[in-house]
Amino acid sequence: MKTKNIVLIMSTVLLLFSCSQNPFTGKKTLALVPNSQILPMAFAQYDEFLTENNVETGTSEANMVRSVGQKIATASERWLNANGYQGYLDDYRWEYNLVRDDQVNAWCMPGGKIVVYTGILPITQDETGLAVVMGHEVAHALANHGQQRMSAGQLQQVGAVATAVGTQAAGVDEETGALFNTLYGVGSQVGVMLPFSRSHETEADKIGLTIMAIAGYNPDEAAKLWQRMKANSGGQGPPEILSTHPSNDTRINNLSQWAASAKAEARKFGVTSFK
Ligand SMILES: [Zn+2]
Repeated sequence: MKTKNIVLIMSTVLLLFSCSQNPFTGKKTLALVPNSQILPMAFAQYDEFLTENNVETGTSEANMVRSVGQKIATASERWLNANGYQGYLDDYRWEYNLVRDDQVNAWCMPGGKIVVYTGILPITQDETGLAVVMGHEVAHALANHGQQRMSAGQLQQVGAVATAVGTQAAGVDEETGALFNTLYGVGSQVGVMLPFSRSHETEADKIGLTIMAIAGYNPDEAAKLWQRMKANSGGQGPPEILSTHPSNDTRINNLSQWAASAKAEARKFGVTSFK
């Protein structure tokens, strides 16, 4: 009984001090696992992933991934600075790599570590289509969706909450490390992440649309990209990105409706034409 109370008090204290405001949604979000623990893990996992996979360099496609990624990163920073979140990306170490693999997929780890698979390029078709996908994946990272997912995982185990209290400031603890590996699944399998929730998907769609527009890409193309993705999902099962990113007509309709406000937001940054 006594132990239960202590755990309850500790959990409450943690919740009070670890909720941070999400700059994109204005919502208070749960952040039991701090960036100081997550980012070093993400960076190490990313480097390991690159050594174990076929990274393409010097080709026009690899250059396109880097160039679109840089524009998305710059747009994210401009958006955050303009909204009073200077320094939000200070710990980010952006990196954009194209990996030769037939999977129809792409992802962005916390801290701005991006991978695009060559298998998705026939569907993205051009720079703008790629910006839709990269904007969406970066949005998951910016909105700390992975972090919230880890925090939720921790909350499921009261013991893990107690562990978090003791080790929050002491670097990466074993349990958090194991949790990270489970959720991101990068060490063992090829970038297989647990699916995000539907609400996180919707959030990432909306944020991604604004970011791509500020980067100068036409947000009207987002709905078209997901239509192509949907069309491609016939035959031998859905592409990888659809199994982790549930696509449906609601998403396509949402994106069509939001495109105008994404353009309006971009105009505030002096962006008036969209390619
Ligand atoms: Zn997603």
